[in-house]
Amino acid sequence: QPQTYDAIILGGGAAGLMCAAVAGQRGARVLLVDHAPEVGRKILISGGGRCNFTNVGAAAERYLSANPHFAKSALGRYRPADFIELVDRYGIGWHEKTLGQLFCDGSARQIVAMLLEECAAGGVSYALGQAVEAVAHADGRFRVDVGGRAFAAPALVLATGGPSIPKLGATDFAYGVARQFGLKIVQPRPALVPLTLPGEEALFRELSGVAADVVARAGGAAFREAALFTHRGLSGPAILQISSYWQPGEAIAVDFLPDAAPGWLLAAKRERPRAALRSALAEMLPQRLADVLAERLGIGELHGAKDAALQAAERRLGDWAFRPNGTEGFAKAEVTVGGIATDGLSQRTMEAKRVPGLYCIGEAVDVTGWLGGYNFQWAWASGFAAGEAIAER
Ligand code: FAD
Repeated sequence: QPQTYDAIILGGGAAGLMCAAVAGQRGARVLLVDHAPEVGRKILISGGGRCNFTNVGAAAERYLSANPHFAKSALGRYRPADFIELVDRYGIGWHEKTLGQLFCDGSARQIVAMLLEECAAGGVSYALGQAVEAVAHADGRFRVDVGGRAFAAPALVLATGGPSIPKLGATDFAYGVARQFGLKIVQPRPALVPLTLPGEEALFRELSGVAADVVARAGGAAFREAALFTHRGLSGPAILQISSYWQPGEAIAVDFLPDAAPGWLLAAKRERPRAALRSALAEMLPQRLADVLAERLGIGELHGAKDAALQAAERRLGDWAFRPNGTEGFAKAEVTVGGIATDGLSQRTMEAKRVPGLYCIGEAVDVTGWLGGYNFQWAWASGFAAGEAIAER
């Protein structure tokens, strides 16, 4: 006979832990299942070990999804302020780093410890360190086989995340179970991931380690942050952000001089005709980058170039096209764009419309946040929504 619970949650990451704590504290008997021996591994390594646990600017416009409105309800009912209140209640110190990003002063371990205490307060049980062998559904009950034992519950939560960083135990397990229950999957792609450049861009790869404050554009989005040249291509926050919007085959546009006044290059020619483009650029950019850009533009001393050529060069510096030939893939992607299609889910409770009792939360769902605490906020908010709904059943 399977051991029975009110809810079985598959995946003890950010979303699963929040869901377990919320449902448990509201009276549900919860089993949390994870194939990893310890929960919350991505939390532990997040934000360079300090966990960028939320962003005060979290709003549905800062998430990618086939349905841009889907996340509104859950994000509206569990806000950054709610998570901050929890963190404060545990006396965990935090600070805003930049752009609304909140980090622990100490360690991401404090966030995992807090969530585990919240789960303990909800009497949550665990089945850790063993693979899920089977998931079945009959007579309104879900049955889950884990490590030779059987468990059953009227509610099942898919919270096993996306396939980003398999080395940390990430799998596409949620998609398989979702398909088993007739849910659709929006094509998953690596996101918040470095882009790779083809061989003819080797000149830029020589800049490995050089960073600049740029505006990066693709797919209708624009981000002003640092871009970093790597030995394989492009990285840094501006590039990671734009990678989520980039489609293979497309170009990304980089404005290397977002603060330069229009006409600055002609003005420079009039003021200092004998100056070289590389030195004019080096006043605003790292010297190595200035050298490569000037070489690519084929311009030496400014007086040697026609005005029209300088105008064209200025336009190009503000709209430099890179044609990435790919990304560094799921091995290096901080998140996954795509996943379980939202049109099969209730935006209020995360429950599958056609399969009562089945809930999908966190990164497994086709909702992907910007870089900077947005993805954890979605995990907390969707986990909270499902946790409350489960306890109300
Ligand atoms: P996860 O946290 O990935 O949890 C899924 C759980 O399911 C895991 O415990 C896993 O072991 C388990 N699991 C997977 N497959 C199976 C299976 N087949 N059977 C059983 N269990 C399974 N986001 C931010 O907002 N701020 C940050 O600072 C930040 N930093 C990041 C840094 C890195 C290096 C990475 C990779 C991601 C970062 N993210 C950050 C993104 C964030 O970690 C994820 O969006 C978030 O963890 C998703 O939560 P989740 O609960 O849906 O999935």
